[in-house]
Formats: sequence, structure tokens, C-alpha cells
Amino acid sequence: MSFNLDEKEIPRYFEVQKYAEKCKEDPLFLRRHFWKTDICKYGPYCPNFDMCDNAHFRSEYRPPTCIYSEFCKNEHCLLFHNETEYEKEEFKRTLDFKYDNIGEWIKDINKMKDDLEMLELEAKLRNFKINI
Ligand SMILES: [Zn+2]
Ligand SMILES: [Zn+2]
Repeated sequence: MSFNLDEKEIPRYFEVQKYAEKCKEDPLFLRRHFWKTDICKYGPYCPNFDMCDNAHFRSEYRPPTCIYSEFCKNEHCLLFHNETEYEKEEFKRTLDFKYDNIGEWIKDINKMKDDLEMLELEAKLRNFKINI
């Protein structure tokens, strides 16, 4: 082992190693580890909404964490290794979601529907005026 572990950390270290091994052996387990860690480019209009691995709303999103957690030895690793890293505001701002959650999206759809109905109504009234 190239780095020293505190005695208290040893059980956690072996637990993380076991988890990482499982990720490497089992593609489904690895897929679950990275579930919803990417932003779906279709947003809520995703054609594969229920089965999609990616996040459609900010509330669904999970930061991509490293399978080696705090024991990662790769200096260039871009994944997250502890919770404080992804609680940072500068990271949250990089998440490019149109809607925070499904409720916001539905509200927006209803608003669009209302706007459309208003436009239709206005068009009808205009026609009505033209016709008389
Ligand atoms: Zn999707
Ligand atoms: Zn890492």
C-alpha cells in the first residue's frame, strides 16, 4: 500500500475496495453507480423518460462520485470524492437544467396551454369582428 491509513479507516477502506471491485465486475452495478449523474439532452421531453439513465430535472440529478471514494489515488480524477465537493455552489450553478423538478415543468406546460388558449380565443374574437 502506497499510503498510510489510520487504523480507524481500515474497515471503510476495505468496504470501498469491495464496492469498486463489484463496479468493475458487474456492468449493471456500475450503471447503477452512475445512474442520473448526467444531464439528459432531451430534458422532460425524453423519448425514453422512464428507462433513461440521465437526469431530466435538477431534483433527479446525482453528482458523479468516484468508485474509490476518498481513497482514490488518481490525482487527475474529475469525479467527486466527498460530499462537501458537490455541495459547493459553483458546482451547482454548472448544472444546466431548465426545470428543478417535475412540478415546475407541469406548471410551465399549463402556462403554455393557457397562453395558447388565450391566443386562440383572441384569434376567434378577431375573426368574429371581421365577420360582422
Ligand atoms: Zn432522458
Ligand atoms: Zn477518483
